[in-house]
Amino acid sequence: MDKCNQCGVCCKIFLITLNEEEYRSGRYKTMFEMFGVVEDFEEAQRDGSNILAQHDDESCIYLEDNKCSIHDSKPSACKNFFCKTKDPNFKEMIRQIEEYKSKLE
Ligand code: SF4
Repeated sequence: MDKCNQCGVCCKIFLITLNEEEYRSGRYKTMFEMFGVVEDFEEAQRDGSNILAQHDDESCIYLEDNKCSIHDSKPSACKNFFCKTKDPNFKEMIRQIEEYKSKLE
C-alpha cells in the first residue's frame, strides 16, 4: 500500500477549510480569528473564516519541520486527502502537487 512520504507539499500549497464542527470547536487556528467566530457558517465559508491559518510562506500553520504537528487531530480535509489516491475528485490537486514538485527540480 502506498504511504505518505511526508514531502509536505500538500500542506504548503493548499488552503485547508474546516467543516462546521471543526470551525466551531475552536481547536484550530484560522486565518481571520482575530475578528472572532462568525455565527453563520455559510457566511464563514464565503469570507474564508474557516480556512486554517498559515505561516508567512503560506504553508499550513501546523506544518513544522515538514510534519503535521497535529497529526492525530488534523482536520477532515487533511484526513480525506492522499496524493496517491486514484479518486478522480482529487485529480486537479494531484496535478498541482506534481507541478509544484517539478518546479523544485
Ligand atoms: S493540519 Fe497538518 S496535515 Fe493538514 S495541512 Fe496542516 S500540517 Fe498538513
